[in-house]
Amino acid sequence: MTDPVPTGPQAEAAQGRVALWLDPEDLRWLARHCCCAEDAPQEVKDRCGRLRFRAGAALHKDGH
Ligand SMILES: [Zn+2]
Repeated sequence: MTDPVPTGPQAEAAQGRVALWLDPEDLRWLARHCCCAEDAPQEVKDRCGRLRFRAGAALHKDGH
């Protein structure tokens, strides 16, 4: 996993990212939820892992 923890709104925007506000419960669900099929392409699993990683990082950043 090469994706760093977010460095700030401007750095995120520079990478073409947009802010996504979610309830902590939704983030928690997202961080734990994996619905990838066992034979899903690596690209799909990577994206899933990235999303769950960032959801977990956002939770930690916010002290949850
Ligand atoms: Zn998954």
